[in-house]
Amino acid sequence: MSLLVVGSMAFDSIKSPFGEVERVVGGSATYFSLAASYFASVRLVSVVGRDFPKETIEMMSARGIDLQGLKIADGETFHWKGYYEYDLNTAHTVRTDLNVFKDFVPALPAAWRETPFVFLGNIDPRLQLDILAQVRNPRIVALDTMNFWIGKSPQLLREVIRNVDILILNEAEVRQITGEFNLVKAARMLMGMGPGRVVIKRGEYGVLHLSDGQIFAAPAYPLEMIFDPTGAGDSFAGGFMGYLASRGDGALTEMDYRLATMYGSAIASFTVEAFSTDRLQGLTKEDIANRISSFRSLTEFRV
Ligand code: AMP
Repeated sequence: MSLLVVGSMAFDSIKSPFGEVERVVGGSATYFSLAASYFASVRLVSVVGRDFPKETIEMMSARGIDLQGLKIADGETFHWKGYYEYDLNTAHTVRTDLNVFKDFVPALPAAWRETPFVFLGNIDPRLQLDILAQVRNPRIVALDTMNFWIGKSPQLLREVIRNVDILILNEAEVRQITGEFNLVKAARMLMGMGPGRVVIKRGEYGVLHLSDGQIFAAPAYPLEMIFDPTGAGDSFAGGFMGYLASRGDGALTEMDYRLATMYGSAIASFTVEAFSTDRLQGLTKEDIANRISSFRSLTEFRV
């Protein structure tokens, strides 16, 4: 089934303890759509400037991502500059240049209004609300955000949270929104605001997935080589939502959500093995299946 995403497409300048890159391709919608493209047909809504590489657009299109909703505007592409210290779970922002996003008004192609699965990726909550107003009766809407928007537009963000089914956030964002340190209590507070599920990304500690009366904990894949955690969260969300969308139109079971969490974790584990989308864009079905089996043996035990 189809899966719609709105989010950023970007140039990222990143420093990690393992190297430094300038203006490589990134962005929440870029990572999300590439990850989801292994499972479902993805419809992307975003904006880039004329400086964005044509090869990336062609590569995304070759992966089957529908780019009718991508606007190429006069001006510069969104740019994010950040760094990580040895704690790779925390991204420090040095600067955020919104550029072409400043005046972006997303217009959903008419045929996309009925898309059943929707991901409101990390971007201005104003744009997330714009998209929500244009879709009709989606089955599942999930939301991501980050500290930049939690601080800048808290009211608008609350309104988005009220209207989605699943929150996919990292632990720092969960704590920042709720003011509660304990993640189980914080997730309950978030569910009290509207969403029925909260998926908390905890970097190298894995993922906590909470819904009414249920908690599922997935580990992160223990890699020996991690180059750059940028995009891991969006790749997780892409694998997660992509897997749900691949289940067709029957009712989703708790096990579907658990498997979605494992597929998201598997895809994210590839993203961090290289800078930018280098590893993510060239996966095979076999790569993904092998990592899922590794996850199985990692967590299997008998009593
Ligand atoms: P994550 O998957 O959480 O590591 O997100 C990484 C991506 O978020 C990077 O590729 C950035 O381009 C993008 N990003 C950083 N800051 C923002 C922002 N304020 N709004 C939208 N996207 C952002």
